[in-house]
Amino acid sequence: MANIKFYKMGEMPLELHKVRVVQKLHLVPINRRLDAINEAGFNTFRLSTKDVFLDMLTDSGTNAMSDNQVAAMFQADDAYAGSQSFERLQKAVLDVLGKKYLLPVHQGRAAENVICHAFVKPGNVVPTNYHFTTTLAHVMERGGVIEELYHDRALVLHSDHPFKGNMDIDKLEACIQRHGVDKIPFVRMEASTNLIGGQPFSIRNLMDVRAVCDKYGIMLVLDASLLGENAFLVKQREDAWKENSMGDILRTMTGLADLVYFSARKLSSSRGGGICTNRRDIYAKMEALIPLFEGFLTYGGISVREIETMAVGLNETLDETMISQSPTFIKYMVEQLDAAGIPVITPPGVLGCHIDAGKFCEHIPQAEYPAGALAAALYLISGVRAMERGTISSIRDEEGNDVLADAELLRLAVPRRVFTLSQVNYVIDRLQWLWDNRELIGGLKFTYEPPVLRFFMGGLAPTSDWPEKLVSKFRKDFGDSL
Ligand SMILES: *Cc1c(COP(=O)(O)O)cnc(C)c1O
Repeated sequence: MANIKFYKMGEMPLELHKVRVVQKLHLVPINRRLDAINEAGFNTFRLSTKDVFLDMLTDSGTNAMSDNQVAAMFQADDAYAGSQSFERLQKAVLDVLGKKYLLPVHQGRAAENVICHAFVKPGNVVPTNYHFTTTLAHVMERGGVIEELYHDRALVLHSDHPFKGNMDIDKLEACIQRHGVDKIPFVRMEASTNLIGGQPFSIRNLMDVRAVCDKYGIMLVLDASLLGENAFLVKQREDAWKENSMGDILRTMTGLADLVYFSARKLSSSRGGGICTNRRDIYAKMEALIPLFEGFLTYGGISVREIETMAVGLNETLDETMISQSPTFIKYMVEQLDAAGIPVITPPGVLGCHIDAGKFCEHIPQAEYPAGALAAALYLISGVRAMERGTISSIRDEEGNDVLADAELLRLAVPRRVFTLSQVNYVIDRLQWLWDNRELIGGLKFTYEPPVLRFFMGGLAPTSDWPEKLVSKFRKDFGDSL
């Protein structure tokens, strides 16, 4: 670190846990990485972890489990119906999220499927602070559309706005006026807005959204997949809530929503999801869909072991020392990269460090997928697997043209309690080398393109022999080292 400074406790990137079980990682030679990325169609989703050193693809299902979570798996109750494991989860949902009716689902998008089946009709409009890929797909699958009502500073990538995830209240009013209440099944607020860099909303904003929903009698739906982290940033950034506990903040946020759903893969465990509410009428509209799509009402397609870890994990989100580890590591990473002149999203968000690939690869046209190219290049020179969050993650319009993404981002996910600070430092070091050699990175084109959610399994190819050139420069600088 160039300039020495002292950290306040809670802001220091510090592991407040100890390592008890470890898993070997594979840092394979760069020649193997070149073959691997070719075999994977230049899509990091298609790499095998036997070729990946640090897996920063996602925080979904990859958070480290606590000893208490693993221990809880042993008391799982394997009953088809009436499982006590489910009762323990219901209690955790009531204690932590303040909701008494719970419908279990196998993951977050399954909750979206059930909610959209119950409430979205053809021609409907779902106002949201920002879309998430699977939410958009499910709303569209039911014949609806999404309207993103983010405020004018939400997409300024390098900024000091503390709450880029806020909804613009005037735009919400205008949207309701324009379409009419009957067209709007619900307003959706997403905690820690994933696709704009893990950016939170404030409680003040959620209260304002609630007031508009009350005025028109529209249901408010909260996507709580990243709620713990949003609560942590509220405590840090929103003056009115600095002295409150995580529990107070969490329940205040969920209390403002009529329906809360979550991916437990991020919120509390490694699998599962849930939909919860205090309104019997809302519960009743979805109840029959769980046995249809997921499984019986007391397991919802999740193993009872996972249900136990979800219950323990939910209670652990109340522990600030658990939640703080990933956001403080992300903040450290963002600050180090920013200081080195590398374009990153600021202020630091949650779930990962986001690089402005549009700027990093200014020389690559958006139609040649700069964020995807940067993901492939970073993997090549480091073995670090990141995720493209740009135009590859977007869709095509009716004429078949790419809908260019609002931003070309490279996301380096920092799942909870998985990576050490020296591993984070390795990523920073390799990104600095890549930044110095960025003009060697070239574009990508599709060779195989699935019709929906193409970013998962799509295949691409480089538009020139740039990967080979990048590899030779790496060898020139580092010799035969990995
Ligand atoms: C991951 C995620 C989902 C989807 O959850 P899965 O468990 O991956 O299906 C929905 N919303 C948000 C905000 C997410 O981050």
